[in-house]
Amino acid sequence: MIRLDSTIHLDIRYATANNIVHRPVYRQARAFLQRSAAQALVRVHRTLSEKGYGLLVFDGYRPWSVTKIFWDSVRPEQRAFVADPKKGSKHNRACAVDLSLYDRATGKEVEMPSAYDETSERASPSYAGGTPEQSARRDLLRSAMEKEGFTVEPNEWWHFNYKDWREYPILDIPFEKIREDSGSPANQTKTPSKAHAARMVITGQGAVEITRAATLPRKKRETPLRPCVPMTTRSAPLSLAASAIAS
Ligand SMILES: [Zn+2]
Repeated sequence: MIRLDSTIHLDIRYATANNIVHRPVYRQARAFLQRSAAQALVRVHRTLSEKGYGLLVFDGYRPWSVTKIFWDSVRPEQRAFVADPKKGSKHNRACAVDLSLYDRATGKEVEMPSAYDETSERASPSYAGGTPEQSARRDLLRSAMEKEGFTVEPNEWWHFNYKDWREYPILDIPFEKIREDSGSPANQTKTPSKAHAARMVITGQGAVEITRAATLPRKKRETPLRPCVPMTTRSAPLSLAASAIAS
């Protein structure tokens, strides 16, 4: 059970055409992370509120098949910015998050040295050419994330990996199959159904939805979400990807 913060804003670009492949690749505008990563993210969000900022999340857990769509859709010179499906992505493990900041006073996204998913040198966390304000906000986001166990991707200021990513498998569960689970972890262990067993094996602690869509009323809510996945949803390509990682 986790109490997540609904003042975290979402702009799930991959549920819209405003993204690197110019068409929606998610059917739902939602963001999930593994529980410990989500809890760390909420701490970052609360720390940044003291400076007048909140987190604006573009993406969290990404099913493996979407990583494959990106790889197949982008031009070869853009492939430095997308994960190789043979290796999978930390997004596939629900241990990576793409995000920026919003201004608490206006609710608007702040300016950073580059746009999200911009495939240029300006996307580097060490790019020196932005305005002092842009660079300061980018560096503030990075230092706040690093204090909670995230590391920034070398060529993407918006992408952060959670330290425990190796502990989680590559997943290919569509968002709509991640169902809301009203039971507490204690209750779940008393009902060892096949689906529960699969969930434990595949997801470990279970992924957690960061927040509902930003249009919902701003109130704190308990979000006990856990993926529920029959073993049969693990496709052959996923198994291949997972074994490539293991080797
Ligand atoms: Zn990313």
